[in-house]
Parts: sequence; C-alpha cells; structure tokens
Amino acid sequence: MQVQCYACQTAEGPLEPWSYEIAEEPGEGEVDVEISHCGVCHSDLHQIKNAWGVACFPLVPGHEIVGTIHKVGPGVSNFSIGEVVGIGVQRGCCGACDQCSARREHTCPKITKTYAGPGKDKGGFADFIRYPASWTFKVPQGLQREHVAPLLCAGITTYSPLKRWITKPDSVVGIIGIGGLGHLAIQIAANMQKVARVVAISTSASKKVSLNFGASQFLLSTDPEQMKSNAGSLDVILNTVSGLSDMDGYLSLLKPDGVMACVGLPEKTQKQGMYLQSLVLTERRICGSYLGPKHEYEEMFQFCVKHGVKPVVETFPAAAVNDVFAKLEANQIHLRAVLLFPAAERSRQ
Ligand code: NAP
Ligand code: ZN
Repeated sequence: MQVQCYACQTAEGPLEPWSYEIAEEPGEGEVDVEISHCGVCHSDLHQIKNAWGVACFPLVPGHEIVGTIHKVGPGVSNFSIGEVVGIGVQRGCCGACDQCSARREHTCPKITKTYAGPGKDKGGFADFIRYPASWTFKVPQGLQREHVAPLLCAGITTYSPLKRWITKPDSVVGIIGIGGLGHLAIQIAANMQKVARVVAISTSASKKVSLNFGASQFLLSTDPEQMKSNAGSLDVILNTVSGLSDMDGYLSLLKPDGVMACVGLPEKTQKQGMYLQSLVLTERRICGSYLGPKHEYEEMFQFCVKHGVKPVVETFPAAAVNDVFAKLEANQIHLRAVLLFPAAERSRQ
C-alpha cells in the first residue's frame, strides 16, 4: 500500500508531495488510520530544520493527528472501523523500566515517537498512518475534529505540567508565549480549581486577545516597567517559548519557592544563559516537562470538554503546508494551524 504524504527530503528543504510503501495489512496490535486533520506544532518546524540534530530524512512531520480507523490488525479488539481517533507524539515505550512502571511512559528511555524516531517512522502530514493501537486514543464526543487535533500534543503538553505543579490553593499562574501551546495553557489553567488568576506573558501586543481565553492580566514582557512591577507575583510559570529568551527576566516574576516548568524547546545551538542568582536566593525552581503520561490523555480530553477548552484554529489545505510553516516561523498563526487532508471533506458529509 502506498501512503501519500508531504515530506521534507533534506533539512531546510521544502515539503513536497511524496509517498512511501507499507505492507498491505496492519500487523499485530496495529491500526491503520485515515487522516483527516493534522495540527502543525512548532516542534514540526524545529524538526524539518533539523534544529535539534535528531531528524532523519525523508521526514514526514505531523503529530496532532485525527482520523478514522480504516483497518485493524490481529489482536486489536478495542477499535472498530470508522471510529474517530487521535494520535499524538508518542508511538511506544518499553513497558518494563521504572518510568513505565510508575505510569510515566513519556519519560521512558526507549520512547518511540510518531516520526524521526529510532525506527524512522513517518508522521501525520499524510493520508494514512499505521500506528500501534496502544498509543491510539479514542476522542471525545462533542468536539469538532479540527479542535481535537491540537489537543494531541499542545493539549497534553500543557495540561500535564499545570496539573502537576499547581499545588497550592489560590495560585497565580503565568503562561509565557501565547502560541499554540500557550493559548491552550491559559484556558486550561484558568479552569483549574486551585488557580486564582492567570497572567498571559507575551512579546506581542497583539496577543492581548489572551484576555478572552481566561487570563485576567496581560503582561508585555518587552516592557521593563511591566516586568518590574510584576516581579515576585507568580506561584507557577509554564514557559512555552520556542526560541532564546531572557530567563532571568522571566524567573524574576516568580515568588520565592515558585516553579517554572519549561516545555518550549529552542534549537540545539540556542543555549539559554541565566544567572543562578535568579534561583538560589529565593529557592525558585526550574524544571522541564515533556508531553504527558498515557492515562492523562483521556483525563485531559474530559477536562477540555467539561470546561469548554477549545483551541483557536486556522485551517489550511494540506497543499499549503510550506506557507503554513513560513507563517509559523514569523509568529503569524492565529493560534494553531490545522492541515486538512482529503478525508476532512468526507468527514463533513
Ligand atoms: P508557537 O505556536 O510558535 O508559539 C510559541 C510562542 O513563543 C510564540 O507565539 C511567541 O509568543 C513566543 N516566542 C517565540 N520566540 C520567542 C522569543 N525568542 N522570546 C520570547 N517569546 C518567544 O509554538 P508552539 O507550537 O506553541 O510550541 C512552543 C514550543 O514548545 C516549541 O519550542 C515546541 O518545540 C515546544 N514543544 C514542546 C513539547 C514538550 O513536550 N515539551 C511539546 C510540544 C511543543 P508571544 O508572541 O506571545 O511572545
Ligand atoms: Zn507538538
């Protein structure tokens, strides 16, 4: 079977229509998904540029996938043909290490991913994907497919650390970077029980729109006066910034003992500099956060349905993928791009 897709043949090269061959039938434990929608994450942009130094080419990006089950392989009993499903970044884990045993499979040292992983698998900018059923998710009723797609990466990546690090009642939470991840993070944080208020922290005055997503304050981080007057005001920060930034300035916004969870992943050459004084005297903490554990996907979907959390999406035909990447690089997407594949049209009929 030939899978039609968009691939980048070399780092920095444009995406072009391409196809690759897979066996006619899915193997044990696998499903074939006919893709209708796929979100465009900034990680896809980092990867097509080989900005983290881990990409393999030809590279078919895409890890915010929604589609329908087309075929099920032997041993798959929990999915039926035609069912709407979602696929995110994770493809597998070893199932035996301490991380997997602790239900933290996303930090398994043997993690495999949608694409460019050790098996050089291909991602979701394609008409079809063959995937382990064990990492394919049932998606909630009541959300449109274009709104479900970004939840498979941006949703879980923001829900999981916010749930983990917002521990004190009446927490004041800052979200840095109001893009695909950040605008969802604002909505999620604003609906968490222990949160008193959410502060949107942005380099773009145009992102004041965040006040519509549940932020009660907009802080323009390029304005030194605003940064100064808000110093020491936040309990938790979720940092979604995709490039180099002023870590000392952002850390100064935390209260003593506050936590900054970083999900943004700048390029390998963009090493963040910081003065440890920003942490030491106040015992502030900084940590990384990656995707989320498997059992939190369903929980995150239910949270989004219950609280009306919905990404703001711009949809594009899949053929416009290079223009979408150019807009994403220029910080001009409002606020998550979702590509439409031929099955999207049929899913509306
Ligand atoms: P995005 O839509 O492009 O949003 C990133 C935002 O960061 C921009 O809209 C901008 O917000 C801000 N920004 C960009 N460059 C900046 C700079 N130099 N200084 C300050 N702010 C800057 O990207 P995304 O899809 O949300 O992804 C964000 C990052 O998270 C990427 O690095 C991606 O690779 C990473 N990621 C990590 C995980 C994980 O599991 N940890 C999962 C998915 C994505 P303002 O205009 O508001 O300033
Ligand atoms: Zn992503």
